[in-house]
Amino acid sequence: MKKIILLLLFSISAYLSAQNNTSYWQQHVDYTMDVDIDVKTFKYVGIQKLVYTNNSPDVLNEVFYHLYFNAFQPGSEMDARLQSIVDPDDRMVNNIGTRENPKNESRISKLKPNEIGYLNVLTLKQNGQSLKYKVEGTVLEVQLNTPIQSGESVTFDMNFEGQVPVLIRRAGRNNEDGVALSMAQWYPKMAEYDFEGWHTDAYIGREFHGVWGNFDVTLNIDKTYTVGGTGNLQNPQEVGHGYEDKIQKLNVKKGAKLPWHFIANNVHDFTWAADPNFTHDILKTKSGTELHFIYKNDEKYSKAWKEVQPLTEKALDYFNAAIGEYPWKQYSVIQGGDGGMEYAMCTLISGGKSLYEIVGTVYHELAHSWFQQILATNESKHSWMDEGFTTYISTLASNKILKGGSSKPNANDYRGYFYAVDNYIEEPLTTHSDRFNTNAAFGIASYTKGLIFLCQLNYIIGEENLKETLKKYFQDFKFKHPTPNDFKRTAEKVSGIQLDWYLNEWIETTHTIDYAVAKVDKNVVTLARVGQMPMPIDVLINYKDGSSENFNIPLRMMHGAKPTTATILRGWAWGHPFYSFTTNKEIMKVVIDSIGLMADIDKSNNSFLKKQ
Ligand SMILES: [Zn+2]
Repeated sequence: MKKIILLLLFSISAYLSAQNNTSYWQQHVDYTMDVDIDVKTFKYVGIQKLVYTNNSPDVLNEVFYHLYFNAFQPGSEMDARLQSIVDPDDRMVNNIGTRENPKNESRISKLKPNEIGYLNVLTLKQNGQSLKYKVEGTVLEVQLNTPIQSGESVTFDMNFEGQVPVLIRRAGRNNEDGVALSMAQWYPKMAEYDFEGWHTDAYIGREFHGVWGNFDVTLNIDKTYTVGGTGNLQNPQEVGHGYEDKIQKLNVKKGAKLPWHFIANNVHDFTWAADPNFTHDILKTKSGTELHFIYKNDEKYSKAWKEVQPLTEKALDYFNAAIGEYPWKQYSVIQGGDGGMEYAMCTLISGGKSLYEIVGTVYHELAHSWFQQILATNESKHSWMDEGFTTYISTLASNKILKGGSSKPNANDYRGYFYAVDNYIEEPLTTHSDRFNTNAAFGIASYTKGLIFLCQLNYIIGEENLKETLKKYFQDFKFKHPTPNDFKRTAEKVSGIQLDWYLNEWIETTHTIDYAVAKVDKNVVTLARVGQMPMPIDVLINYKDGSSENFNIPLRMMHGAKPTTATILRGWAWGHPFYSFTTNKEIMKVVIDSIGLMADIDKSNNSFLKKQ
């Protein structure tokens, strides 16, 4: 008996010490950085003090940093990936073949030693004691002298040096628009450790995952340079460049350089850009956020960069109302000279010879302030949750503000998805963003299928429930790292409809939707599920007497139905490939999903019209 009790006690304690990782916690960082930039050589040196708080239940014996700039070197993993992928990003390659017969050459492979990027760690200490570390590509692996206990804060002091690469993608120097310094992923950055463990992804040019915290950054740079970026400038009277209070006196110290002191709280990254020929406009919005526009002082850009300013305020108002209030004091739209990319409290975009060259990008990148900068999903693993949701909400904003409102603003996106299905390039959205086979498959999955996830959720739970879901998601998960399940649970709580099947089918598989009208016999309709993926069905029926009626057939496994004026029928248990129901009048015409929100891959079988 005693033996049994002992055994029982042992098994209980073993159970307690091996808890599953379902409770939420997040690590915390406080960075203080002082950086000196040499604008002639594109080299910089920095001192970084990082107070790292281990809020995990685990004891940490090692930590990892990202050294992203090391990706821009011949032979790097990013270079190798660029050379092996069948459809490389054409901004990152030179075509050394012909137009008809292209042959791509990696631009990284051609960088000379004074053109590459690098981040070198010179010294690193934990609580004053030197540490051992090793660099593997873009990742720094650090063995700790003293493990970090759960709940403990430690201080890492680092001296580092860097070189800004010739711009290949997102960050770099002297890009096509002539911007001197676009500084994204430029500092040694602590990797995230969460309920899934360490996220030490090598940088190959895609998505990010960062630790929430506070940044106190001083950039010492040639005084002719205007700087824009993450954070609130603490010393505007000491630097000027349009940041100063015009009523008060400037207090610029003598010397070749100016110290730009920024503080950004509750963010997970810090980005900046600088150029000696930037123009800087500020728009103080009614909502209280200051919008900064920092762009090349060049006639060819000035018109569009002025026109975009009031339109950016309208988008800000739209997102504030549709999702939740933008939480920081400022947002900067900066000409960074390459594509468009979202960062904390700012974006770097390129171009602007016309309004329409930039306004869509500004809308997209600003929307990322919600779906990535505030709701910080691990976008490396769930790129559809930031790119898809961002594309969804920014398309709605631009459709309303810029285009006057089309009833089908997402029609193009559905076409993109059907293209991927028809060409067999689709991969499940659970694929890590670095490891999609092709750039095309990544793009269609993340942007397009991610957007359609929300369009179809509208179809499944109803428009009002979807709107409510986005707001509740923001309230419950702002300044956190929400997961796909967090979003699904939010939609379930708002709608009262069970949605596990939807997350599984649409995100974790490449099953497709195809429903058909199988048979109509006077007043009996039989529908067929041809595709593997189940969906609730909206049916519009026109009767012989000229009247019409809408029906809604929920899935049985939803255990609920959306609010609708349609006649709600009994649930369709998905295992049955056919479903029949009887109407009160003789049928003339049947149409499945007449509004077209369901991504049904074969519409030819979606309707029936009785021959006269
Ligand atoms: Zn995006």
